[in-house]
Amino acid sequence: MKRLFKGLRGHSPEASYDAVIIGAGIGGLICANLLARESLRVLLVEQHYMVGGYCSTFRRKGFTFDAATHFYPLLGNPATITGKLLRELGVTNGWVKMDPVDHFHFPDGSTFAVPADFDTYLSKLKQEFPHEVESLDRFFTLVREVYLSGLLTYFRWRETDRLDQYSQMTVREALDQHFRDRKLKLLLAADCGHWGSPPSRTSFVFDSMLRLSYFLGNYYPRGGSQVFADELALRFEELGGHILTSAKINRIVVRNKSACGVEVSTTNAQHYVNAGVVISNADLLLTLEQLIEPDHVDRERVACIRSLRPTHPCFLVHVGLKGMETEVLRAAHGYHWDSWDSDRVATNSFKIFVPTLYEPEMAPAGGHIVIVQKLTDIDYDSIEDWAGHKAKVEAYIMQNLERVMPGFTEKVVVKLSASALTSHRFTLNHKGAMLGWEMSPDQLGANRPALNGLLKNLYFVGHWTQPGGGITPVIVSAMQVAGKITNTPKALANSSPGLERSDNPGDAFAREDPNPERVCPGTNPFRVHHEFEKTNPGLSLRSNPGDAFARKDPNPERVCPGTNPFRVHHEFEKTNPGLSLRSNPGLKLANAFGVTKLNQRFRR
Ligand SMILES: Cc1cc2nc3c(=O)[nH]c(=O)nc-3n(C[C@H](O)[C@H](O)[C@H](O)COP(=O)(O)OP(=O)(O)OC[C@H]3O[C@@H](n4cnc5c(N)ncnc54)[C@H](O)[C@@H]3O)c2cc1C
Repeated sequence: MKRLFKGLRGHSPEASYDAVIIGAGIGGLICANLLARESLRVLLVEQHYMVGGYCSTFRRKGFTFDAATHFYPLLGNPATITGKLLRELGVTNGWVKMDPVDHFHFPDGSTFAVPADFDTYLSKLKQEFPHEVESLDRFFTLVREVYLSGLLTYFRWRETDRLDQYSQMTVREALDQHFRDRKLKLLLAADCGHWGSPPSRTSFVFDSMLRLSYFLGNYYPRGGSQVFADELALRFEELGGHILTSAKINRIVVRNKSACGVEVSTTNAQHYVNAGVVISNADLLLTLEQLIEPDHVDRERVACIRSLRPTHPCFLVHVGLKGMETEVLRAAHGYHWDSWDSDRVATNSFKIFVPTLYEPEMAPAGGHIVIVQKLTDIDYDSIEDWAGHKAKVEAYIMQNLERVMPGFTEKVVVKLSASALTSHRFTLNHKGAMLGWEMSPDQLGANRPALNGLLKNLYFVGHWTQPGGGITPVIVSAMQVAGKITNTPKALANSSPGLERSDNPGDAFAREDPNPERVCPGTNPFRVHHEFEKTNPGLSLRSNPGDAFARKDPNPERVCPGTNPFRVHHEFEKTNPGLSLRSNPGLKLANAFGVTKLNQRFRR
């Protein structure tokens, strides 16, 4: 497959970068873009020959198969934070909106398609379950409530007591509390396979967040997952980033309790690269137990992390078909259950996904693709005969495909299967887990490994860290880490080239500065804004207008001591009696950053 990006292609990486990212999954790719956008010099290293991790594709006999991920909630909707982010990053691959969002096939042969519009969905549920109408209203009122509080708690790291009552609740408990109808209970958990864990171990809050996000749009990338991942890689290169594929990080170098470099092996060389910060998008245990020497990490914390439960691995069968009717595939699409007990997700259900219903280009003309996903409840370490395991699960799936679509087997042009071992081989994810640690109440929030704090200048992005697994949470982790790093003066190594004047918000401010004599002697107007950050220990960075500037500051050490942002703005006012509040740049600045407290002070 032709790659959109170049990569370093045989060239060695430079000796030093502001940031080195281990792994080019979606977490690594997004973080790389965000840091490069802030003018950091970033090296992204991927052990595989392609980028994307679980968001990649492979090709056989003209069929292009998604290796794993196929639901991309929110990303095609620019009104959402993640959709907007992609637009800002200049990602142009198209998105096909799914409607219905999902299909469920029940043990009694009945089916239910989930419409993409929430009100239509709720009416449809009420029509089908008239005896549960009031409970449905109560349930979805609660789902909406915890969705909003969940976003604040898990995606924005804000404290709220509104979740207290529900943070320990599982999906199963929430459904049991609200409903009696077993079919409705299964229907509301029938897509739990996408969590990689049974409803009795999945957080109700996290589930609610995903459940409602589908109604803001669930998408499939035009051209498949690789197009999306490659496009992120291309945008990163355009921002000056360097990508090394088929290159493995073997060691994170630690000095004075601080990550400061990496050792990389490429096909024909070993490189040592200095790094201002190291960000691991790789498997967390691999990072802590294999890439860092044991003396440098707190063993108890690593042992705690090791005791967490990973999500189930997902077995996949990829099939290329010729001559299969589209309508037969459309009817078979979705989750199939042969038990009413949703906790049996890893034994009694599987999912049929037909990407060619959304993107016919994935198959040669007249062809279709079927991808079957089946969670497997296995003891990874005890399996010795992986070939036998693979043959057994594949046979089970093929039998079911033939049952659901008689004549299926005859239409097969190409067929491949992937077990947990395959997932591990291509991505190095612990035990081939599907979404990192289980998103169970006891493994979320502060109980999930944090984005940083284990070692200075070492950060984590992806599904093994906070907030959780799946594309949206992984992107959120990358946004958070990029925010933390660009807020941290130390993260910006000396090599950051100067910002363009026009890119620097300080520039606009300086142009309007009515009181230039207040600027520290010998400094330039940009430095006024650098002052903001350092000198306000009492101010939270979030509400500090200087924070927004500081994030773009390539030279934090040039800060001159002794001023505070509020005073700067107050002084504008006091020392310029002729200036109306309206024309006070301090006020404009405050408005621009939504600092309402500051505005109030001005008014007083
Ligand atoms: C079958 C399946 C289906 C899924 N379906 C969906 C879905 O429909 N929707 C959804 O939202 N989520 C889905 N998920 C989950 C989702 O794909 C993941 O949570 C997400 O993609 C993880 O992204 P990541 O960036 O954390 O890491 P990964 O995708 O795991 O990427 C990590 C990268 O790091 C690289 N790496 C590791 N170690 C090193 C090293 N030492 N040196 C260099 N590189 C290294 C790996 O090669 C890999 O490319 C699915 C997962 C699976 C397995």
